[in-house]
Amino acid sequence: MTERWHVPVTSIGEMLRNETAACTPLGIEAGSYTTGGSLVPDWIALKVVESWLAGHDGSFVFDGFPRTIGQAEALEQLLARRNAPLTAVLWLELDREAIEDRVKLRLVCVDCGRTFRVGWQVKETDTACPACHGKLVRRPDDDPVTLAHRMVVYQEHTAPLIEFYETRGLLRRINAGGEADDVFAQIEAAVHSPAPPANAETTLA
Ligand code: AMP
Repeated sequence: MTERWHVPVTSIGEMLRNETAACTPLGIEAGSYTTGGSLVPDWIALKVVESWLAGHDGSFVFDGFPRTIGQAEALEQLLARRNAPLTAVLWLELDREAIEDRVKLRLVCVDCGRTFRVGWQVKETDTACPACHGKLVRRPDDDPVTLAHRMVVYQEHTAPLIEFYETRGLLRRINAGGEADDVFAQIEAAVHSPAPPANAETTLA
């Protein structure tokens, strides 16, 4: 996205992991939630987002934010103050088995934060990031037990956002089951197309 659209893409989870690695007071507080797979309280997520927005003008993509109705409402107010409403909200749909599979095969670079999939961009035995040669590791929250908890948290706190954004005509459904190029093509089309008519879909959740 950054290469094609020349806009920053920022992951709140990654910013929180960086804060935790740097042992800042916010990072230490956030770490107790992130490693266990729970959402950090809204005030922490919003603090991270607000400080990021303060340093950036123009367009951007948030990855993993908002994840609660409270965050979504706060974001609406923040963006209204900037006179920059949301263009689209991308909902990447993937079935449970595929999510488990991807998490099992996910490696992250501790230096640049890029994510790789074993078998696609890297081999099981690779320890260096193909992009920056940083160290590749598994995320501490990518174990099966924590993932199961994250799925429960998602249903309870994040799934209600589907209706929230559908009502506002902003929701774009993306079938995330394919390879990266296919998913990206759908994202490009979705971002540049108007919302489907409100009655085009029936149930989403
Ligand atoms: P992610 O890298 O997006 O998978 O996020 C990793 C972890 O960071 C999540 O399991 C949460 O603990 C925390 N996190 C990321 N984004 C948010 C958010 N918008 N609200 C609350 N917690 C978040």
